[in-house]
Amino acid sequence: MSELGSFDRCGACGKYDFLGRHKCAPAWEVFWPYGHEDWTDAATVHVLSAQYAAEEWASSHDSNGDYDIVGGSEATVRVRPKGEDGLGLEFIVTGETVPEYHARESA
Ligand SMILES: [Zn+2]
Repeated sequence: MSELGSFDRCGACGKYDFLGRHKCAPAWEVFWPYGHEDWTDAATVHVLSAQYAAEEWASSHDSNGDYDIVGGSEATVRVRPKGEDGLGLEFIVTGETVPEYHARESA
C-alpha cells in the first residue's frame, strides 16, 4: 500500500479520499426551520465553509426528496459551526439543472 493509504470512505465525515492523508473538513450544522423545531433537527455536513454547508444540505435534501429546490423552490437555512451555540448565518439556497453531454464511439 502506498503512503496515500487506501482510497475509501472516511468513517468520521463520510467523504471518499486516500485515508493515509485524509483530514476531515470542518463540521457544520444546517438547520432548516421549515417544519422543524430547533437545532436538534439540524443536519451535520463536513465541508470547507458555511456556504458550502448550505449547498451540500440542499443537494442532500433534494436527492432524498422530490427535487423541489432544483425544481425552482427556495429554502432558507441557518448554518453554524458544529458544537457552537447561536443563530448562525442565514442562507437562501436555490438550484438549477445543468446539461450533461455524453459521447460514445459509433463503431
Ligand atoms: Zn473524514
